[in-house]
Amino acid sequence: MVNQQVLVLGAGQLARMMSLAGAPLNIDIAAFDVDSEKIIHPLTQHVIGHGLNNAIAQANVITAEFEHIPHSILEVCERSGKLQPSTQAIKAGGDRRIEKQLLDDANVANAKYTIITNRSEFDAAIAYVGVPMVLKTALGGYDGKGQWRLKQLEQVESIWQEMEQSLLNTPHQAIVAEEFVPFGREVSLIGARRANGDIVVYPLAENIHVDGVLSLSTAINEPELQEQAKKMFIAIADKLNYVGVLAIEFFDVEGLLLVNEIAPRVHNSGHWTQQGAEVCQFENHLRAVCNLPLGDTRLIRPTAMVNILGLDTLPEAIFDIPNCHTHWYGKEKRSGRKMGHINICADSSEQLNDTLKKLASILPVADFPALHKH
Ligand code: ATP
Ligand code: MG
Repeated sequence: MVNQQVLVLGAGQLARMMSLAGAPLNIDIAAFDVDSEKIIHPLTQHVIGHGLNNAIAQANVITAEFEHIPHSILEVCERSGKLQPSTQAIKAGGDRRIEKQLLDDANVANAKYTIITNRSEFDAAIAYVGVPMVLKTALGGYDGKGQWRLKQLEQVESIWQEMEQSLLNTPHQAIVAEEFVPFGREVSLIGARRANGDIVVYPLAENIHVDGVLSLSTAINEPELQEQAKKMFIAIADKLNYVGVLAIEFFDVEGLLLVNEIAPRVHNSGHWTQQGAEVCQFENHLRAVCNLPLGDTRLIRPTAMVNILGLDTLPEAIFDIPNCHTHWYGKEKRSGRKMGHINICADSSEQLNDTLKKLASILPVADFPALHKH
């Protein structure tokens, strides 16, 4: 296989983990910081070049590690003919209006919604969607940011004032008003699609969020739910003619899945695949965008992942716990920031639970609340 140069739009941990997965395959990754227009080495963070045109010229393939990319940059990349997945797919992940339309077009179940750009549309949304209601900015939201919960009508004025600010501050902004879904749990499906239409999906992960941020993901083996999720995955991926890894987040309402949102990229809830699958999501993403056959996605042993949020050290005792794999991202410490994750593997689900308990006993409850509740 010939050497491939892949340019990743975005220079965070996802580009870093693509780089780690690509190296043995002779796939080199350069990362493009869309704010500074610097080309960055994804492991050392050294600046290795400047400017989008240079970055594009040096790449065989261009992909993205996040969806909030200026459309002007996406268009230049698209014109080069090297961008995978397409601009359309990346925009669907970065604009909840386009995303909701896509879910409707693909005929997959999702929460009832309407779009708000002014006060009278807010009133109409309250009548149409009902209370409680979740309000989300169409552009720029992540990790639960840019969201409001309308639980009682008394909150209408104060929420409107905040939403109005958001509408005024961001060009082309809108708010998606969504029914509150009384879900039992949240699951996600990560899969990959190649240009020839081949699709592989990993086992579903069950996800526990704390304050809107993913804390714990566990791969699950539930064939009926898996089949439901896979059908929805195929409908969405085919609709987009998608190339690469795609993540879909679902609400599980008594065994029926509703799509919450999609991410047109490798995803935090798929990090467990680094230790729990034969071929991890980062490698499968590179295989898909480089138009290579997709790799085995089966669960090879019970596996979970816990995020390290806002910490840059862990007790050394973690090395005494068998089958815990720590992955640091090399980022500067900031409160709540995703700094790394730990993948935990076991021979059985009982053993996985035991190991998670051991891990909880050495990690502070304030930083790992989901682990302690487990
Ligand atoms: P991410 O970090 O996944 O990008 P996000 O900021 O894009 O998150 P969502 O995934 O849409 O936002 O919402 C964050 C969390 O809020 C969800 O994981 C879920 O727990 C809750 N939530 C979102 N929408 C609804 C809804 N309609 N009903 C109930 N809970 C919801
Ligand atoms: Mg989400």
